[in-house]
Amino acid sequence: LSFSSCNLPPKLQENLEAAGYEIPTPVQMQTIPAALSKRNLLVSADTGSGKTASFLVPVVSHCANIRLQHLNSKKRPLAMVLAPTRELCVQVEDQAKVLGMGLPFKTALVVGGDAMAGQVYRIVQGVELIVGTPGRLIDLLSKHDIDLNEVSMLVLDEVDCMLQRGFRYQVMQIFQALSHPQVLMFSATISREVEKMANSITGNLIYVSA
Ligand code: AMP
Repeated sequence: LSFSSCNLPPKLQENLEAAGYEIPTPVQMQTIPAALSKRNLLVSADTGSGKTASFLVPVVSHCANIRLQHLNSKKRPLAMVLAPTRELCVQVEDQAKVLGMGLPFKTALVVGGDAMAGQVYRIVQGVELIVGTPGRLIDLLSKHDIDLNEVSMLVLDEVDCMLQRGFRYQVMQIFQALSHPQVLMFSATISREVEKMANSITGNLIYVSA
């Protein structure tokens, strides 16, 4: 499998090349095609495996395809990535920006430490992807009327770590605020708790371990 056989938006293909991503990593080879065919996935993947691009390539492709087909739609968020820490969210958003360059693809970061007003303003102005920590997102959603009805892709990164940090309830609350999104879940370890949460989110899972 190569990136060019995935039928990605041409600009995304160019961005991958410019970033020096020539050959997909094993986790990308297994995850990207299944994610592009809208399957729900539970992926066992460590940092360093290329896991971030394995969800961001499908996310950017999904968002760009929708926007390029409906040029005059309201710019409500289309995808969301939840990750356990501010630092991880910053890294994910940075990589998303690189892959989404030149496409109708804007991102908003929803983490603690920055003023919430700015984050809300950015979302209301129109973004495709929201990247955030569960706690801050719940806080923001409880105080502001953000329309999440078009979020059709949800990524949970480092699920094991989110459970360790006690985010289970918040993650489930966010999932329940969405209308049946495709779900991509990533975890270094697939513990019983990780599996339990994955199965409570969807009964229709593909397991990937690269
Ligand atoms: P991650 O596991 O997502 O933290 O990625 C680890 C590193 O590998 C990051 O610096 C990525 O930019 C890089 N990377 C991801 N996919 C590829 C690829 N297909 N080819 C070359 N580098 C990659």
